[in-house]
Amino acid sequence: MALSGLDIYKLLPKTNCKKCGFQTCLAFAMQLAKKAVSLDKCPSVGESVRLKLEEASLPAIRLVEIGTGERRVAVGQETVLFRHEEKFHHPTAIGLIVEDDLPVAELDRTLGQIRSLRFERVGQQIGVELVALRNTSARTEVFVEQLRRIRAAVSLPLVLMACSAETLKAALRLCASERPLVYCPKATDLEAFVTVCKESHVPLAFRASSLEEFSAATKKAAQAGFADLVLDIPENTTTERLWQLTQIRRLSLKKGERSLGFPTMVVVNTAVESEAVCQAAAYIAKYASILLVRTTKPEHILPLLTLRQNIYTDPQKPLQVEPNVYPVGAVSQDSPLLVTTNFSLTYYTVLGEIESSRRPCYLLCMDTEGMSVLTAWAAEKFGAEQIADTLTKFKLADTVRHKSIVIPGYVAMMSGDLEDKSGWRVVVGPREASGLPVFLKNLAQG
Ligand code: SF4
Repeated sequence: MALSGLDIYKLLPKTNCKKCGFQTCLAFAMQLAKKAVSLDKCPSVGESVRLKLEEASLPAIRLVEIGTGERRVAVGQETVLFRHEEKFHHPTAIGLIVEDDLPVAELDRTLGQIRSLRFERVGQQIGVELVALRNTSARTEVFVEQLRRIRAAVSLPLVLMACSAETLKAALRLCASERPLVYCPKATDLEAFVTVCKESHVPLAFRASSLEEFSAATKKAAQAGFADLVLDIPENTTTERLWQLTQIRRLSLKKGERSLGFPTMVVVNTAVESEAVCQAAAYIAKYASILLVRTTKPEHILPLLTLRQNIYTDPQKPLQVEPNVYPVGAVSQDSPLLVTTNFSLTYYTVLGEIESSRRPCYLLCMDTEGMSVLTAWAAEKFGAEQIADTLTKFKLADTVRHKSIVIPGYVAMMSGDLEDKSGWRVVVGPREASGLPVFLKNLAQG
C-alpha cells in the first residue's frame, strides 16, 4: 500500500539538514509521496528505511507477463476495487482450454476455431489471448506432441497445464523462451513446479484451498526467490469463488496484504456451456485476471469479449473515433453528407445503418471529445458553429457539390443557425440511427 507523506516523514531522519534541496524533511517527504523526487536525494537514509520505502512503492498487485512480443499478455497491477474510482488497467486475459487427448483431426478443427475468434467491435479488434493445453492423457509424450501441433498452428501465448514436473520440464524444453504460464494442478507438486519455473523464468499459476494457504505459499515462494505467481481460485460455487476473488483484491489493495497481491485466475470447467458462459461473465466483472474456458464457439466467446471491452474501457475517457470525413460505399460528389459525433458507439451505429441502407454517403465525424449527440450539443461541442467550422476545415464544399448536410434529428433546433453560419442547406435526419435506411431511401438525389 502506498505510504502517505506523513508516513514517509516518520521514517526520515528529521534533521532538516537541507541536503536534499528542500527546507525540511517534511517537504521532502511530501514530494516523495507524490513520486516527484527520488529517495537518493537524501544521503542520510539508512538501508532498512530505504528497503521499507522501496517496498511501499511497489504495486499492491504484482504485474505478471505471459508470452513475448506483440502477443504478450500483462495481468495484475490493478489499483482500484471499483472501476469508477479510476479505471481497471489490464483486461481479463481469456484463454481456451484444449485437452491433449483430442484426436488429431479434432485438435486441428479446434485450433482452426481458435484462430477465427477475432472480432471487430466499435473500431477495436477483440479476441482471446491464451491457449491452455491440459494434460488430460497424463502422458508426457502426448502432451509434448500436442504442444508441438498447437505451436505450429496458433501464435497465442500458452498455458501449460502439465500433470507433473517431469512433463512440464519436457514441455518447457520446447517453449520456455516463449514465456508460457505454467499451471500447477496439485498443492503437493508446488515446490517442484516453483523450482522448474524459477529456472526457466516463466510465471506459475497455482491453486490453494483458502486465502491463508495462498498467503503461506506465496511467502514460501518469495523466500525461494520466486514471485511470478498467479492465484488460481479453487473450484467451488460461483458465489464462493467471487467471494475469494473479491477478498484477494480487497486485502491486497486496502490492507496492503503483499502475500495476496498477485493476479488471479479462474478455470471454468462446467460442462453445460450456457452455465459456463454465465459463470465466466461473473468472473470477468469481479475480478479474474485470467479466465480459462472450454468452449470455442463464437456465440459464447463474443459476449464475453464484449462484456470485457465494456468493463475495461476508461470510464472517464469514452471510446472515440478519429474525427474525419469517412466515405461509406462507392461515393460520388452527389452522395449525401451526414454529420455525427466521434463517440465510438454513436459513430459505428450510424455507420452500420448507412451501410445497411446501401446508399453511398459521406459521414462527417466531429470531434466532440467522445460525447454522444445530445451530450455534445449540451456541452457546446456539437453546435452550429463547430459544424460550420468543421465543414470548412475538411473542405467539404470541394468534396460534394450539393452543399447540403444531414444533421441528427435530436439537434433539429440548430438547423437555422447552422444554415446561417455555414451557408449550407440543412436537412434534418431521423432522431434514431435506426431510421436512416428509410430516410436515405427517400432522400432526394443531390
Ligand atoms: Fe531531511 Fe534527508 Fe532532506 Fe536532510 S536530506 S532535510 S535529512 S530529507
